[in-house]
Amino acid sequence: MSFASLGLSDPILKAVAEQGYDTPSPIQLQAIPVVLSGQDLMAAAQTGTGKTAGFTLPILERLSQGGPVAPNKVRALVLTPTRELAAQVGESVSLYGQHLSLSSAIVFGGVKINPQLMALRKGVDVLVATPGRLMDLYNQNAVRFDQLEVLVLDEADRMLDMGFIRDIKRIMALLPAKRQTLLFSATFSTEIRALAKGLLKAPVEVSVTPSNATAPTVTQWISPVDKNRKAPLLCKLIHEGKWQQVLVFTRTKHGANKLTKQLEANHITAIAIHGNKSQNARTKALADFKAGEVRVLVATDIAARGLDIDLLPHVVNFDLPHVPEDYVHRIGRTGRAGQVGQAVSLVCADELDQLKAIEKVTKKLLERKIVSGFEPVHPLPETQLNAPSHAKKNTRSRRPPQRSGHRDGVRSGDLARGHKAH
Ligand code: AMP
Repeated sequence: MSFASLGLSDPILKAVAEQGYDTPSPIQLQAIPVVLSGQDLMAAAQTGTGKTAGFTLPILERLSQGGPVAPNKVRALVLTPTRELAAQVGESVSLYGQHLSLSSAIVFGGVKINPQLMALRKGVDVLVATPGRLMDLYNQNAVRFDQLEVLVLDEADRMLDMGFIRDIKRIMALLPAKRQTLLFSATFSTEIRALAKGLLKAPVEVSVTPSNATAPTVTQWISPVDKNRKAPLLCKLIHEGKWQQVLVFTRTKHGANKLTKQLEANHITAIAIHGNKSQNARTKALADFKAGEVRVLVATDIAARGLDIDLLPHVVNFDLPHVPEDYVHRIGRTGRAGQVGQAVSLVCADELDQLKAIEKVTKKLLERKIVSGFEPVHPLPETQLNAPSHAKKNTRSRRPPQRSGHRDGVRSGDLARGHKAH
């Protein structure tokens, strides 16, 4: 099946060919005809599947057939949870639309609003926005939605995780009822289905990854290790494996900064990316990492969401995420486009509950490899798939008394707790 047979016109096919894509990806095969037909769509697809082109190409096709946009109006609105994702989607819109005479703009918070007000003055065909800044612009009369034809909620699960539900509902209330709505999400959770119910009309559902399944090209393993030995173990893995481009996840901003310093002290170039960094600093960090000038990018979940980094060979979970679905998102950063990737988690005894939750969600036990010289003093208990899940709070008190000492030991090497990751 080719892009041409999907019903896209020459200027779009030309842009696609210039990107070097010859075959549509599975999500593109499924989504493009639905979007072209004007129906609502609910798509389960993670970053890395080609989902952006999956909605951008047919939207551009439809918009190219309509009339011009009026001042301060938009014809298609793409909402994203993060600035990085907004920037990347906006870039795709420009690339795929380069042979069309449609306009686009990207707006997000953390940067000056004036250039965005100017960009919207003449109206734009495609606006890519984060919810908060979009509301600010609306309140300043910079944007109006009565010409809106298509709405896309990209990474809707993440938008809910990040607490954007109110903003989303406020924005929805401003949009014309007669519109096409597309919702993309890594998983279809109960919350996503509830959101979709109010926003989409008889949507066609497509899915390229069975809900909560991890990409098959990713080799996943865990290394049981004591908490205070995680940083030295990571240095050893990077040095001995000669890993050149490594994305490392930490749970907190403080943890990301601390680890970055530890890596640098071990002659491994590293840079942290999280919500406390300015937009310019984040953009530069990502560019340096992509260019191979920095070997390790240390990120919190929220900052890393939507990062478009192709063919990433190594993803490391320095801390296991508290939300098991974040594990699926994290390792979605590797093994892209059929490439084999490695996702390694450094797991201390304290993280047993998170490990169990992840294994339950991904429906598989993660292979364990203890690295010689890093045998944990506080062993990580074995897990099994069908074990009853423990309530998080109670698990500690259920641990056998002989292990109570190890909790203190583990805490001594703890990375900062109590910070909310951004
Ligand atoms: P996305 O899932 O939208 O973040 O896309 C992941 C990556 O796949 C991006 O770098 C795209 O440039 C690339 N891509 C999208 N569609 C195709 C395709 N049909 N063939 C090859 N690469 C693609």
